Amino acid sequence: MANYDFDLFTIGGGSGGVAASRRAGALGARVALCEENQVGGTCVHRGCVPKKLLVYGAHFREEFEDAAGHGWTLAEPPRFDWGTLQAAKDKELERLEGVYRRMLKDSGVRVIQGRGRVVDAHTVEVGEQRYTARHVLVATGSFPSLPRVKGVEHGLTSDDALSLKAVPRRLLIVGAGYIGVEFAGIFRALGARVTMFFRGSTVLRGFDDDVRAFLTQELRKKGVDLRPETQVADVEKRPDGSLSVLTGMGETLEVDAVLFATGRVPHTKGLGLEAAGVKLDERGAVCVDAHSRSSVESILAVGDVTDRINLTPVAIAEGRAVAEGLFNGQERSMDHTGVASAVFSQPPVGAVGCTEREAREKHGAVDVYVSTFRPMKHVLSGREERTLIKVICEPDGGRVLGFHMVGADAPEILQGLAVALKCGVTKRQLDATVGIHPTAAEEFVTLRDKRPEPEAESAGELGHDARKSVD
Ligand code: FAD
Repeated sequence: MANYDFDLFTIGGGSGGVAASRRAGALGARVALCEENQVGGTCVHRGCVPKKLLVYGAHFREEFEDAAGHGWTLAEPPRFDWGTLQAAKDKELERLEGVYRRMLKDSGVRVIQGRGRVVDAHTVEVGEQRYTARHVLVATGSFPSLPRVKGVEHGLTSDDALSLKAVPRRLLIVGAGYIGVEFAGIFRALGARVTMFFRGSTVLRGFDDDVRAFLTQELRKKGVDLRPETQVADVEKRPDGSLSVLTGMGETLEVDAVLFATGRVPHTKGLGLEAAGVKLDERGAVCVDAHSRSSVESILAVGDVTDRINLTPVAIAEGRAVAEGLFNGQERSMDHTGVASAVFSQPPVGAVGCTEREAREKHGAVDVYVSTFRPMKHVLSGREERTLIKVICEPDGGRVLGFHMVGADAPEILQGLAVALKCGVTKRQLDATVGIHPTAAEEFVTLRDKRPEPEAESAGELGHDARKSVD
C-alpha cells in the first residue's frame, strides 16, 4: 500500500473544507488543509456573516422610525457611524477566524498557508512544497463573476461592498439576485440613493413568482429605484471620481459606485484539475457523483466549486458526508432535497420546497394558499410594509410541496417549516395545528381559503388578501 504524507489533503479552508477536515481529523485521519487567504472562507469573511451584521446595523434606521408610533420620542435624532459598524464587524470576523483555526487544531488538522494546486491524483503543491495524500478534497468555493462591459474595472464586487470606506451617496446595483437585493436593503437603509438594473421584470430569479412580485413591490416602497430589463453598456470614471453609467437603451446615470452582483463562478481556474483528469462542466464546476467523488477516484469536491446548491450549510453537510464516507465506513450522500433558503433583504424572504410553477410542472394540480397582510407592529408604526405567506400543497389537504414567506423574521420562521416539510407534513396537519397568537407565523396554520385555479386568476400573480389580513 502506498505511503502518503496524509490521508486527506483539503484545498480551501471555507465552510466545506473546514467541515470535512475537522470531521476527518476527529475520526483519526491524518489531515492537512491549505488556504490561500483567511480560514473561514466566503461565509465568514465575504458572505453570510459580514452581510448579516450589516443588515442588522442598517435595519436600526427603521426601528428608530417605527418607535415613534409606539410612543417613543428620541431625545436627539439618531446618528450613524459607518466606521464604528465596520470596525465592530471586522473584530467579529477576526474572532471567528480564530475560532475556526482553533477548531482545526483541536481536530489535529495541519493548516498550511498558501495556494494549492493539484499535480496528480495523489499530489498537491503549495508554493515549492509537494504533499501526497490518499484522498484530495477540492473545496475552493466560488468568486464573483463580472459582465463583459467597458469600464467594468471601475465597479465593485460584493467582496468590496462589504468593506467600503464610506456609504456611497448614489449606488447602482447591477443584478437582482439574492446578493443584489440584500445589498440594496443595506445601503438604502443607510441613506444611499439605490438604483438597481436587472434583466427580468421582477427581482430574485429562481424564487416563487408571487415572492418575486411581492418583494419587487416592497423594495419600491422602500425607495429603491428599480429598473427592470435594463443593462449596463459602459461605465466611465469622471475626473471628480463619480461614475457615468450608460445603459443598453442609451440613457446615462450618474452614481458614486457601481456594484456588480452578477453571479458567481466556481473557483477551479489554475488548479490543475483538468490536467489531472478531473472533469469540469461548462461553467468550470467540478462534476461529482452523489458521494462528491470526481471523475478521478481519489479526488473529491464539495461546496460552491461543485455548483450544486451554493449555501454554507450545504457545503458543510457535503463536507461532513465526505469525511464519514472516507474514514467512518459510512458512505453517506448529502440529501439535496428540501433545502431551505433565505434572502436577508428588507423585508427578508424564506422559502423551502417547490415554487408554484415547479409544483404545477411536477405534480399537475396543486392547491395554493396565499395571504398578504400588514404586520401588527406596523398598525401602530404606520409603515406601509406588508407580509406575504404562501403554501403550495397536493390537492385536498395533501402533502405540502412548498412554503414561502416575505416579511419580518421569515428566515427564522421558515427553519421550523423546513423540518415539517422534510417530515412530509400535510395541509391537513397544518390545519390541525393550533397557532401561536398573535404572530405572523400563525398564518401558516390558519390558511383556509384556496386561491382560485389559474384559469380564473393567472398563477404567479398575487392573489386576494386572505381572510386574516389586517388592514
Ligand atoms: P468558500 O467558503 O468560498 O471557501 C473556499 C476557500 O478556498 C476560500 O477561503 C478561498 O480563499 C480558498 N481557496 C480557493 N482557491 C484556493 C487554492 N487554490 N488554494 C488554497 N485555498 C484556496 N450562504 C448562506 O448559506 N447564507 C447566506 O446568507 C449567504 N450569504 C452570502 C452572501 C454573499 C455576499 C456571498 C458571496 C455568499 C453568501 N452565501 C451565503 C454563500 C456561501 O458563502 C457559500 O455557499 C459558502 O461559503 C461555500 O463554501 P465553500 O467551502 O464551498 O467555499
